[in-house]
Amino acid sequence: MLTAIVGINWGDEGKGRMVDLLAADYDIVCRYQGGNNAGHTVVNESGKFILNLLPSGILRSDVVNVMGNGMVIDIEHLHKELNNLRNAGIKITPDNLKISDKAIICLPYHVKQDVLEEERLKDMKFGSTRRGIAPVYGDKYLKKGIRMGDLFNKEALKERLDQIVEWKNLLIAGGYKSVEFSSQDMFDWLVKYSEDIKDYICDVGLFLNDAVKSGKRIMFEAQLGALRDIDFGIYPYTSSSSTIAAYAPVGAGVPGKKLDNTIGIMKAYSSCVGEGPFTSEMFGDEATALREAGGEYGAATGRPRRVGPFDIVASKYGVNVQGADMLALTKLDVLSYLDKIPVVVAYDVNGRITKDFPTGEELNSAKPVVEYVDGWKCDIGKCRKESDLPKAAYDYIKYLEAQVECPIKYVSVGAEREDYLIMN
Ligand code: GDP
Ligand code: MG
Repeated sequence: MLTAIVGINWGDEGKGRMVDLLAADYDIVCRYQGGNNAGHTVVNESGKFILNLLPSGILRSDVVNVMGNGMVIDIEHLHKELNNLRNAGIKITPDNLKISDKAIICLPYHVKQDVLEEERLKDMKFGSTRRGIAPVYGDKYLKKGIRMGDLFNKEALKERLDQIVEWKNLLIAGGYKSVEFSSQDMFDWLVKYSEDIKDYICDVGLFLNDAVKSGKRIMFEAQLGALRDIDFGIYPYTSSSSTIAAYAPVGAGVPGKKLDNTIGIMKAYSSCVGEGPFTSEMFGDEATALREAGGEYGAATGRPRRVGPFDIVASKYGVNVQGADMLALTKLDVLSYLDKIPVVVAYDVNGRITKDFPTGEELNSAKPVVEYVDGWKCDIGKCRKESDLPKAAYDYIKYLEAQVECPIKYVSVGAEREDYLIMN
C-alpha cells in the first residue's frame, strides 16, 4: 500500500501533524523532496518537535524513515536535528532511518549563494528561506551536485569537489565579489558531518522495493503544497522541487511503483510564507486576528505568515494537481472566533469572473470575490466525532467539500495528536 500525504495549498497546512497521526497505520514514512526549508510541527506526549529534514514518522519507534533521492540535505543541519531528537530520548539507528545514496548534499556555498542573491535582489527578493535550496537544486540539474554516496570514496570526492568549488568561485568571488570558498574547507566539512550519518546511507530503492513486495505500508510525506510546486505552482515564487504526489515514488526511490492513494492536507483558511501572488490575502486588524488565532509564524524561520480566508479557486486547483482521493481539513478550531467566515469563491481577473486558477500576469492581477458563511462561535477543540460539531462547523466542512469536489475524511481541531475527528 503506497500513500502520498501532500499539501493542497501553499504549505504549512499541518502535514507534519497529520503524518505523525496517520503514521500509526504505516510501516515506512519517506520524505521525497525539499530540504531543511521545511518546518513540520509535531506535538505529542514527548513534547513539541519541529522537523526540517527528518520524516515526521521519526517520532514513532516502530516506523522506518526514509530520506529519498529527491531531497537536498544539509548534513550539518541534519547532524543538529539528529542530536536534538537523541537528546529528547528518540532512538535513531540504521534500522529506523535510511538516507538515499542518491540524495544531494546542500553545502555551505549553496547557503551563501542563496543569501548573496537575495541581497542582490533587494526589494525584488523572493523571500527565500536562505538555506541554499534553490542553488543546490540548480546544481543538481547542472550536474554539479555531490551525492550522499560520494562520501564513501574520499579520493574521488576530493577531486570532484576541487572542480566544483573552482567553478562555484567563478560566481561567488568573480560575480558577487564575495569571499572565495576553499575546496579543502568544504572537504573537511563533508568529512566532519558525514561521520554520524554514514551508517544510515544506503540504496533505499532496494529496501523500498522489498518492502513493497512483502506488502508493507509506505507513506510518502511531502514538503510544502501544490501551489509551491516547481511546475504547477506560482512560478517563480515556488519551491525548487516537485511537491506533488505524482513525484513521490520517483523522489523516494521507487520510480516504478504506483501510488494507491493520495491524502491531501488542506487548511480551513489560507496562509503563505514569502513573496508572490496570494489573492486571498487579508491585511490590517483582520489579518492580525487570524494570524494570532492560528499562530501563523514560520516553523522553520519564525517569520509572520501572510494569511487570508479559505480560497476555493486555489484549493480546487490544488486538489486536482495532487490527484487527492480524500482530504484532511486542518486548523478548523482557529476559525471559532469569527461571527461570519469569509471565503474566496472566485477570482476577478480584469473584470472576468473565473473559478479556474490563472497563471502569470492574470494571477498577479486577480482580485478575490468574497462571500460569507455563518461562524459557530464556540470552542470545537474537544470535538471527537462528527456529531460533536456545531451545525455551522459541519456546514462549513460540507460546503468546502462540495466546492473542491473531494471528500473531507479527517478534520483536525488542535495541534495535538488526538485533536481530530473522522467524518462519517
Ligand atoms: P506543515 O509544514 O504542513 O507540517 O505545517 P506547520 O507545522 O508548518 O504548521 C502547522 C501549525 O499548526 C503547527 O504549529 C501545528 O502545531 C499547528 N496545527 C496543526 N494542526 C492544527 C489544528 O488542527 N489546530 C490548531 N490550532 N493548530 C494546528
Ligand atoms: Mg511548515
